[in-house]
Amino acid sequence: MYKLIAQDGRAKRGEFHTVHGVIQTPVFMNVGTIAAIKGAVSTTDLQEIGTQVELSNTYHLHLRPGDEVVKKLGGLHKFMVWDKPILTDSGGFQVFSLTSLRKIKEEGVYFNSHIDGRKIFMGPEQSMQIQSNLASTIAMAFDECPPHPATRQYMEDSVARTTRWLERCKKEMARLNSLPDTINKNQMLFGINQGGTFEDIRIEHAKRISELDLDGYAIGGLAVGESHAEMYRILDETVPYLPLEKPTYLMGVGTPANILESVERGVDFFDCVYPSRNGRHGHVYTNKGKLNLFNAKYELDDTPIEEGCGCPACKTYSRAYIRHLLKAKEMLGMRLCVLHNLYFYNHMMEEIRQAIEEGRYSEYKRQKLDGFKENDK
Ligand SMILES: [Zn+2]
Repeated sequence: MYKLIAQDGRAKRGEFHTVHGVIQTPVFMNVGTIAAIKGAVSTTDLQEIGTQVELSNTYHLHLRPGDEVVKKLGGLHKFMVWDKPILTDSGGFQVFSLTSLRKIKEEGVYFNSHIDGRKIFMGPEQSMQIQSNLASTIAMAFDECPPHPATRQYMEDSVARTTRWLERCKKEMARLNSLPDTINKNQMLFGINQGGTFEDIRIEHAKRISELDLDGYAIGGLAVGESHAEMYRILDETVPYLPLEKPTYLMGVGTPANILESVERGVDFFDCVYPSRNGRHGHVYTNKGKLNLFNAKYELDDTPIEEGCGCPACKTYSRAYIRHLLKAKEMLGMRLCVLHNLYFYNHMMEEIRQAIEEGRYSEYKRQKLDGFKENDK
């Protein structure tokens, strides 16, 4: 159940009640694709850096260790020792981006595993069954993530199929949630809006899927090669056609600036691999922009990554020490950078929530964006 607490312009401040606790939105979900945050970050660490939702991936966990294995071990929450909400991606995006020789049919997609090449079939029912075995809090609908750019005809056909698949997902989830041996019988379903950069297709699709009265709605197929300006235009056009009283999730986005702009357009769920991926390469976020800790100017810098930051890295270690660890390829260096970056994102979301509640979101956004440019001067 989603409760809209405050609005500032189009920016939404909400509370999403789940069987695994309440999610305060806007929220940034921390991406642990294979039930682990890359960079040697544990679920105990996640508690410490203010993570609200962990995000895992259906496709990857289906291949390894196998969703049946996870089910036998009591579901993802028990397996990875995390009692807060988990969202599982449907596997659709990975099937379309990682696998080769795929064949899209009305029933689903035939493809080869990117690990050992074996033939696999996944359709809406299979994706729901896997997510039910994983027992995540929120399951995502199985959709086609169309290529960018795509022709209008391709997009229309693809979106129509995605709608038919969504109806099948809803039906299958209701069936699975009623079975006696299902671990999470309160699993929720988010539908996904598609349509590339054709705003009329997006709007029609948004209206159509809103009628299905799902638990939340995502906007997929953005940040796949179009410009930021195009992405913001699509959000401006599409978000008003998604239900205000349900969460709006922009999949796979993005930089701190992308998040600030999208919150202003009514988005309240986010996920992205940037903070962990950049952290593993020694690139860290600060309120004055991104730093590359490999840079020689940090050799004798005994200050933390960011003064006043409450993350485990900044509370204890200096830029110079972390730089040394990174250069020596010690795993700790990578880990500290990832912890700092995730904390930075989680903390920014906390500031965003407060700014919306206090009705000063646009002022907050402007100051934050100005700050990020400081290191570029
Ligand atoms: Zn820090």
